Amino acid sequence: MIKLHDKYFKPFLSEEQILVAVKSVAEKVAADYKDKTPVFVGVLNGAFMFVADFLKAYPHPCEVSFVKLSSYQGLTSTGIVETLLDPPDNLEGKSVIILEDIIDSGRTLKELVHLFNNTNVKDYKIASLFYKSEVYNGEYTIDYVGIEIPDKFIVGYGLDYLELGRNLREVYQLNQKHMINLVLFGKPGAGKGTQAQFLKDKYNLKHISTGDVFRYNIKNGTELGNLAKSYMDQGDLVPDKVTIKMLEDEVENNPEASGFIFDGFPRTTAQAEALDKFLESRKMKIDATLALDADDEVLIQRLLERGKVSGRTDDQDESKIRNRFEEYNEKTAPLQAYYEAQGKFHTVNGIGAIEDITHRLGKVIEEL
Ligand code: AMP
Repeated sequence: MIKLHDKYFKPFLSEEQILVAVKSVAEKVAADYKDKTPVFVGVLNGAFMFVADFLKAYPHPCEVSFVKLSSYQGLTSTGIVETLLDPPDNLEGKSVIILEDIIDSGRTLKELVHLFNNTNVKDYKIASLFYKSEVYNGEYTIDYVGIEIPDKFIVGYGLDYLELGRNLREVYQLNQKHMINLVLFGKPGAGKGTQAQFLKDKYNLKHISTGDVFRYNIKNGTELGNLAKSYMDQGDLVPDKVTIKMLEDEVENNPEASGFIFDGFPRTTAQAEALDKFLESRKMKIDATLALDADDEVLIQRLLERGKVSGRTDDQDESKIRNRFEEYNEKTAPLQAYYEAQGKFHTVNGIGAIEDITHRLGKVIEEL
């Protein structure tokens, strides 16, 4: 087992297995191109090792060049692929073979096809060392494949996890712990904090309450605390940029957690999108958003009662409470549609005895 950043990876393919696959691709291509002097175009960064070993195994005259693409998650789940290095301009009339390290969804491949359709090459074919047939969208023919692999996240032999692991001679796969990540959703006073205390013990999860983290920082007079204080005192939301960064730091500081309960985050669409993007880059995801439902007037009474004992100034003044509700209705409520669109939104009746509500939440979690 090896560790890269916060994740563990276990051996998947040996150096020998990889080289056999590389050689088989080289031989298939050689049989088709022996009289043609093709140009092999590697797709950076991931394909550099494959290109090197492929060329060593390719027995006939050939040329080599590179393009560079970068695929990152945009704000939507479709993802965007950016071209960082264009195809060389001396490909006119030549036969090109694109060398990819891995083809999974086909997003990068689509961009490659666009790139090469805009050149005046004689023809081009696609060769990929690794190929995830289970997830490939099937849009274009892949002419040469080294090894078909299951839909596992792999690193090594040029492929990375957040830029680490490219230098490994073997290929490793992510050792996926079964993780549950939950968002507790609901208006102020709905019982998110109370329920999180029970759920975190029951399911062995790390509880992150952004409100608690802000209050802790205010108490300790940190820079973050000073920044957040004026917003919190008014019952306004703290700006997204500050809150998102803080949340990401909290997750990063708990690499051993077997899952998280996000309480009071996300509260805006920008936060929800940032959370999805951040989790995806860490090979994690939200499993469910659990919404505690309760009537405004019940909540206001609860908050005023809490204010008497908690000392929270934002709980003691009805106008501040109403402002928090307005912030909720305007900025947080739209997240219901965001999570519904992902099929992850579950509403639970938030009125009743604490243990009954924990039981209702547990039923949803256990069905995930
Ligand atoms: P809470 O303890 O969740 O009721 O949060 C108390 C206050 O902290 C809120 O009224 C906001 O001022 C601030 N806060 C907590 N979480 C967030 C968030 N995700 N985005 C912006 N502000 C937040």
